[in-house]
Amino acid sequence: MNHLSSVKHVIVILSGKGGVGKSTMAVQIALGLHAAGKKIGILDVDLCGPSIPKMFNLESRDIHQCNEGWLPVYVDKDQRIGVMSIGFLLGSADDAVVWRGPKKNAMIKQFLSDVYWQDVDYLIIDTPPGTSDEHITVMESLRGYNPDGAILVTTPQAVAVGDVRRELTFCRKTGIPVVGLVENMSGYVCPHCAECTNIFSKGGGQALAEQTDISFLGSIPIDSNLTLSLDTGVNILEANPRSPAVRAINHIVKKL
Ligand code: ADP
Repeated sequence: MNHLSSVKHVIVILSGKGGVGKSTMAVQIALGLHAAGKKIGILDVDLCGPSIPKMFNLESRDIHQCNEGWLPVYVDKDQRIGVMSIGFLLGSADDAVVWRGPKKNAMIKQFLSDVYWQDVDYLIIDTPPGTSDEHITVMESLRGYNPDGAILVTTPQAVAVGDVRRELTFCRKTGIPVVGLVENMSGYVCPHCAECTNIFSKGGGQALAEQTDISFLGSIPIDSNLTLSLDTGVNILEANPRSPAVRAINHIVKKL
């Protein structure tokens, strides 16, 4: 049996470039939906750069099997946030996955069919940057399961925004709906004087959303609390609920 049939909502996180905050978004949206009472699965299909285990401080954990398939690794004792990642299958955090396309595709298909999510409300799929084999395999495997669609993540500057246009074309070609666009690293508010510096420019994502008629979900500022929380696996929503990034994330999660 394919366990995707027990999943209520599927959201795929896409970005044109690496380092714009795609995994960050996957984690924060998961935490935000969890805080709203939802049961969450996160599938990390960034096989060459799996960062979700580290962001939840789960790096030392192993995957177990039951009769129904692979059990996700749970973040919390109530088992309301489960994670599946190739990171759990590697011997050490320094191991590299040096696989050609077919082997990667087989792994992703297995993740999408064999993980026993157990009635999650939202499955959030974190992907590698760009539009490669992995993305096509994900979209093909989701066909027939009525995914909510893709959230596109960009930083505000023109070069990154240009790459998101290609993501948009990919979504249209593969027939996956676009849930909306998030502009990450959108300004830095100095904690001392409260002045906002637009390090990577500002507003490029919002302008693109307007031009292309997709929903703009919101902007997340650069926030050192967020970097620290992801480096240490701490839930920023609980540890620092009034930080600028958390306020922005809460705003985005309410729109989902
Ligand atoms: P991607 O998945 O697109 O490669 P990541 O989510 O891994 O990008 O983010 C890259 C780095 O930037 C991470 O160290 C993360 O903690 C940091 N980061 C992402 N968004 C923010 C933000 N809004 N404020 C501060 N740091 C951020």
